[in-house]
Amino acid sequence: MARKKRKKRLRLKPKVARFLIYFIFFIIMGIYTINESRKIIADFKYRETYEYKITEKGYKLEEAKKLIEILPDEKLNYILDNEYNEMYYNIVSQKYYLNKNFEKYIQYKEYHEDTSYEDVIAIVNVHANAGWYNESYETNINDGFLIIVNKFYHLDKSYERTDLQNINLAYAYANNSAAEIVIKKFKQMRDDIEEEMNVHLMVNSSYRSYEDQEEIYNEFKKVSLKYADSYAARPGYSEHQTGLAIDITSLEHPTANEFKESEEYKWLKENCHKYGFVLRYPEGKEHITGYSTESWHFRYVGEEAATQIYKENITFDEYYAYYIEK
Ligand SMILES: [Zn+2]
Repeated sequence: MARKKRKKRLRLKPKVARFLIYFIFFIIMGIYTINESRKIIADFKYRETYEYKITEKGYKLEEAKKLIEILPDEKLNYILDNEYNEMYYNIVSQKYYLNKNFEKYIQYKEYHEDTSYEDVIAIVNVHANAGWYNESYETNINDGFLIIVNKFYHLDKSYERTDLQNINLAYAYANNSAAEIVIKKFKQMRDDIEEEMNVHLMVNSSYRSYEDQEEIYNEFKKVSLKYADSYAARPGYSEHQTGLAIDITSLEHPTANEFKESEEYKWLKENCHKYGFVLRYPEGKEHITGYSTESWHFRYVGEEAATQIYKENITFDEYYAYYIEK
């Protein structure tokens, strides 16, 4: 009895069975069609993306992704309007790349093929692509210790810090003054190096007014303009007017040549950031600072900025362009 019953239960009417087969078939076909349509739609949508369009131009997927991550729409469209060029990706992937300078980097690199991408970025960021003194901006005097003065940023004739103090003759040659903090920090640095190496740092030159600088510059200019611009800053363009710059030497190695080769200079290069100073015109950065290397000229920017500048091995000009001005 039980056996008979089971058999009966399994048997379906042919109509029902046919219906079920068709039903299952249509379900499977339906799912397949939906999936296929989804794929087609997705593919169609992907073809509309920058990623597809840029890779179609010949860029690798990772390059396309980087370009999309960094560049705003109008610049991505610029890339799409132009032939494949490795330059775009190379520019955008530089550490100190700034979107506002995109076109300037391209233009500079096109005219200076041999210049490295790193240098192209630095040169354009600090405005040096314009040529020394060819562009001139008013210094933002509200930048505090990060105030910038170089061959593109100038101070007004009347600018003078209110906290200038005379520097004690025990560690400065006559008639030197600087911002209070500069003197304090220099004194700490001087004490530490004396304790460590038994050498005695001296301030050779520090604050200079616009008029002081004018006098110096005009003396040089008697030879020629080119000569003057090579050896002195134009009035208003000297960092010494900020009261935050000091020219350092030592009692042991008083001349510039001796000092450059001295142990105390080496020590300063490695340690001055701890006191908030940076070596302002380092070797090998002349194309960024506009100044031949000066082993004596140090600038106070505060410990935080000085440490970052030291660690990243950049100039204050580059730091200012990337982190302050942007
Ligand atoms: Zn100097």
